[in-house]
Amino acid sequence: MLKNIMKNCWEMNKVKKVSIVIPMYNEQEVAEKCYEKIIDTLKRIEEKYDYEIIFINDGSKDKTLEILRNIAQKNRKAKIISFSRNFGHQSAVTAGLKKVTGDAVVIIDADLQDPPELIPEMLNLWEKGNDIIYGKRKLRKGESKFKLLTASMFYKTLNALSDVEIPKNTGDFRLVDKNVVDVINLLPEHNKFLRGLFSWVGFKQIPLEYVREERYAGKTKYPLKKMLKLAQDGIFSFSIKPLKIVGAMGIISVVISIIILVYAILSYAFNWNNLTAGWTSLMVTMTFLCGMILISLWMIGEYIGRIYDETRGRPQYIIKETINFE
Ligand code: UDP
Ligand code: MG
Repeated sequence: MLKNIMKNCWEMNKVKKVSIVIPMYNEQEVAEKCYEKIIDTLKRIEEKYDYEIIFINDGSKDKTLEILRNIAQKNRKAKIISFSRNFGHQSAVTAGLKKVTGDAVVIIDADLQDPPELIPEMLNLWEKGNDIIYGKRKLRKGESKFKLLTASMFYKTLNALSDVEIPKNTGDFRLVDKNVVDVINLLPEHNKFLRGLFSWVGFKQIPLEYVREERYAGKTKYPLKKMLKLAQDGIFSFSIKPLKIVGAMGIISVVISIIILVYAILSYAFNWNNLTAGWTSLMVTMTFLCGMILISLWMIGEYIGRIYDETRGRPQYIIKETINFE
């Protein structure tokens, strides 16, 4: 009894810890500034929260790692994971999440486009019982029309195809409770599309709106090729609807062949006009066979879709808490 009370008191007074996860790829222009800004913010809430900063050097070819090494030497709470080559932003964040030890985890870009000043507000919302607080971009400064247009197209397509609602105008900037991170870490799938998975796992999520600033320095590390890969991961790992589209096309094709057949029979019977000899049989066979082939592809696709579902190894459900179980 006494032991329990003491334990509770200790738990209440225990300083909570927040882990900051920052992926970096060729960010020598911003690395130092990013660290300073984040430390500034963390110093302000030092009394309530202990912290660790986990930098992931995603195979940078510039001085990023050197700069990070210097930081880690000065501050033992700054940790570094360094990749052997560039594995991409999502892999970098995934690696960071695997190593966090905090009670709350913040994922943030290195280029200060996501303001670190928002972290205390996120922590406040977290203390109120929210599990995920995701940054929602109210305004995006300094991003090209092309990027805005493609991003908006991507989210529209993704939400039309996918079974889980993935919030628009949201990147990976978010605060996540450690329990949720543990669930994500258990998922065995490769090519994780994190913002989709964070939606998929459920829990209590709320947006926090912010203005997305311009990049502090340097250029974007997301060229079109990487954006397309991200979009592909997002669409194909959250939906097997593209397969079903093939099925729909097959059915349409078969229906067209039937219409042509009916039309041909009627025109012969009532002598509407003289169809070229051979036209009917060719057209009907062609559209009918194409339709049947597409339908077969869709059927095979359905099986593949199911195999795919199984191999991703996502659990059937996630329990948030149980009550009165020993
Ligand atoms: N990044 C990474 N590996 C990559 C590409 C990007 O770790 O292959 C990091 C990058 O250093 C930055 C974050 O991911 O911290 C977001 O990249 P960026 O700001 O270039 O993307 P944008 O804001 O232009 O979409
Ligand atoms: Mg950026």
